[in-house]
Amino acid sequence: MTGIPVRAPRTLVAILVAAASFAATAGPADAQARPAAASRARTAAARAAAPAGADTATINAAVARVAPEAIAIRHDLHQHPELGNHEVRTAGIVADKLRALGLEVRTGVAHTGVVGVLRGGRPGPVVAVRADMDALPVTEATDLPFKSTVRTTYNGLEVGVAHACGHDVHVAIELGVASILAAMKDRLPGTVLFIFQPAEEGVPQGEDGGAKMMLAEGAFRDPHPSAVFGLHTMAEMPVGKLGFTPGPALASATTFRAVIRGRQAHGARPELSVDPIVTAAQVVLALQTIRSRNTSPFAPTVLTVGMLHSGERQNIIPGEARLEGTIRTYDAAVQDQIERRMREVFDGITKSAGATFTLEFEEGTPVTVNDTVLTARMVPSLRRAAGEANVSQIPPATVSEDFSYFANVVPGFYFRLGSTAPGTVSGDHHSPTFRADDTAIPVGIRAMTTVVLDYLGAGGR
Ligand SMILES: [Zn+2]
Ligand SMILES: [Zn+2]
Repeated sequence: MTGIPVRAPRTLVAILVAAASFAATAGPADAQARPAAASRARTAAARAAAPAGADTATINAAVARVAPEAIAIRHDLHQHPELGNHEVRTAGIVADKLRALGLEVRTGVAHTGVVGVLRGGRPGPVVAVRADMDALPVTEATDLPFKSTVRTTYNGLEVGVAHACGHDVHVAIELGVASILAAMKDRLPGTVLFIFQPAEEGVPQGEDGGAKMMLAEGAFRDPHPSAVFGLHTMAEMPVGKLGFTPGPALASATTFRAVIRGRQAHGARPELSVDPIVTAAQVVLALQTIRSRNTSPFAPTVLTVGMLHSGERQNIIPGEARLEGTIRTYDAAVQDQIERRMREVFDGITKSAGATFTLEFEEGTPVTVNDTVLTARMVPSLRRAAGEANVSQIPPATVSEDFSYFANVVPGFYFRLGSTAPGTVSGDHHSPTFRADDTAIPVGIRAMTTVVLDYLGAGGR
């Protein structure tokens, strides 16, 4: 591959081998200061006990070996997408594959989640890799030959179902990584926990699920990992590119629901009413000033009213109005500030109108934070896997991710995988024309395998 610095991988391999060969006496600095010794050890170790696949050429060969099967699995999953908490067929395919690879497999974690444990033959840390399995209620409109034509009912409506966020690609990649690491199990210095989670996009109304429930049901218990890795396709990034964001990378998502209660009256007798529509309109406009006048310009936030329902007939002033929306922040203090100001806005405006209100916040997904130390350590692995020029730091995004629950328990590193092939066009995530390309799969397998092997090889420090 072009653009890969020769020194970086050798240094990493040298650290690996030095750790194996001079465990008691030599640290990484010693290994770099003694290239001849490290080189001899590297050659010997490659023949004997080193974790095969830790060098770029071996990883590339392994990726070429497993990619066709991963792509075939992706096509199958894409044609049979399943909504959150209903990933029964998907979970079955995942569990069968992990068992065939010789992993210890737990199923039914948080309804349909699957956990596979690969215990390496050599001592080392435990690391978790997570993929999400759910599709979305979206009717696919791509030119993919394996596009979804599945339909189902969702919240009482008939909808199409599609992998419009690329989770089929994530599952295929993680199975590819499992295939590579299982093949070198005896020489693997540590344990890898493969997490396949349901309902990343949220659960059906009234249900529990997703990452939070997987943790509650022991996904990180026995063995407990010291770090967790995840990746996600990115439509606006071409295949071959990888992106990462140190620190807060994706926003928290909180849902709010409000009811403004006024007094119903004839549409021609407004003096007898307390009009909830006018009051709600004032509230919606006043909410816009929270971001512009109350929070710092340096604190990115979103406050969206996504639903405003009131009234049934043109000549009746209704009795109430319902508002629902979403809040996105990157900081718990800012979140608290927004919720407090929203209460004050609702309180002041409804009081002045003679109306009353209720306002509830449903805490959703927390902020996805990339541990800065872990990120700094793993970015060189991304560069080795994709080439120096193909890896870039990207700004935080306002979407949110269930991965945050895992990354709140142990240090996490979550990176983005370019998924639009040159010469093709993809709509945004969650749109009917979202189109992740198969060619992103070997790139993802190579990147994640390199990250995991480098982490384990360096002893998880
Ligand atoms: Zn999504
Ligand atoms: Zn997604």
